[in-house]
Amino acid sequence: MNNKKSAQIYQEATKYMPGGVNSPVRAFKSVGLNPLFIERAQGSKIYDVDGNEYIDYICSWGPLMLGHSPSQIVDGIEEIIKKGTSYGVPTKIEVDMAKIIVEAYPAIDQVRMVNSGTEATMSALRVARAFTKRNKILKFEGCYHGHSDALLVKSGSGTITYGVPTSPGVPDDVVKDTLVCRYNDLDAVRDIFEEYGNEIAAVIVETVSGNMGVVPGKQEFLQLLRDITKEYNSVLIFDEVITGFRLHYNSSVGYFGINPDMVCFGKIIGAGLPVGAYGGKKEIMDMVSPVGPVYQAGTLSGNPLAMYMGKKNLEILRDNPQIYTELERKATKLAEGLKSNIEKLGLDYTVNRAGSLVCLFFAKGPINNYEDVTKCDISKFNKYFKEVLKRGILLAPTQFEAMFLSNAHTDEDIEYTIKAIYEALKISHNL
Ligand code: PMP
Repeated sequence: MNNKKSAQIYQEATKYMPGGVNSPVRAFKSVGLNPLFIERAQGSKIYDVDGNEYIDYICSWGPLMLGHSPSQIVDGIEEIIKKGTSYGVPTKIEVDMAKIIVEAYPAIDQVRMVNSGTEATMSALRVARAFTKRNKILKFEGCYHGHSDALLVKSGSGTITYGVPTSPGVPDDVVKDTLVCRYNDLDAVRDIFEEYGNEIAAVIVETVSGNMGVVPGKQEFLQLLRDITKEYNSVLIFDEVITGFRLHYNSSVGYFGINPDMVCFGKIIGAGLPVGAYGGKKEIMDMVSPVGPVYQAGTLSGNPLAMYMGKKNLEILRDNPQIYTELERKATKLAEGLKSNIEKLGLDYTVNRAGSLVCLFFAKGPINNYEDVTKCDISKFNKYFKEVLKRGILLAPTQFEAMFLSNAHTDEDIEYTIKAIYEALKISHNL
């Protein structure tokens, strides 16, 4: 594989940008490689500046349910740009977008658009704290909720890969109200509520954690969170930045049948443009300025280009339920293929899947929490990653992320991927 141009750009990039990238996990540092610089992408394929083609399982880390640049979504965007790129005063499409989201998420009455998942979770917490007049929040080990200070505690993905459980620069005072429990641990939740229940403003959780590989929340765990927050008058926040509109058109409400009090979205609702949103019951959202006293704002919030793409994406998902059935079928095929690979090779590894999120863990299962994930053989994963890449498949360059399937992935892509992964496992394990 020729990576000459990527290497040249990387040289220059490191001079002007920290680590040469705008988000740490892009650096491929954890797998001991230099990053690939991308030229373009279409459907399930991504092409780097050296002309290498890959089947893409990063898919921008989740937003691209229909693959890269689907014409049903991107066509017409030029017309929107010509009419103006941002106004800072309201547009009708923001209302349309809010209506689609609220109709798709029966647990909420209102939604506020922001520009990223980080903003969504940060703002939701502020509102929940104001609503309950309490300070403490509960999160779970291995769940990532963006990089706002209060949430950068025992979070997943980049922070696990780079071993930064709590970032320097986050004052102790800011995280003193952030309580952390083990994911899927019902007793830990009961214990912490017994001790602090009346001080807990909110519980924030990924219903399926996509930031420590793929670790689905157990039904009884999520149900306990619902029941206990109700009992103690705390706000239950589902962080659906990854799972929103992915697990199901009605997100976790449809997938698990559990209604939170608030929800955070990102990724899919922007179809690849920078978007986030948080929502809740009207009595909670009435706290938000200009109706209520909680300040939260954004120069580019509800940006017309992002709304155009997001709205089209959600309409397609809403009007074509077979997309979810197809994705489920393809993801099952991939997961079963990976399981058969590890069985054939006698590797005691684990495959987790939830909807179109799939993860091959380099450790014996079951994998139910962050501690289980840390048992993975990272040096083997890193060797494997390189072998997979050589075969034209782009995985997230870390054990702590999902394979993201899109509806653009074909059966052929999946069959090729299963075969290539078999070879990559064999070579990287000297079998
Ligand atoms: N919540 C979850 C569950 C996420 O996975 C992410 C990002 N991967 C975020 C919040 C933060 O979103 P953003 O990167 O858009 O700020």
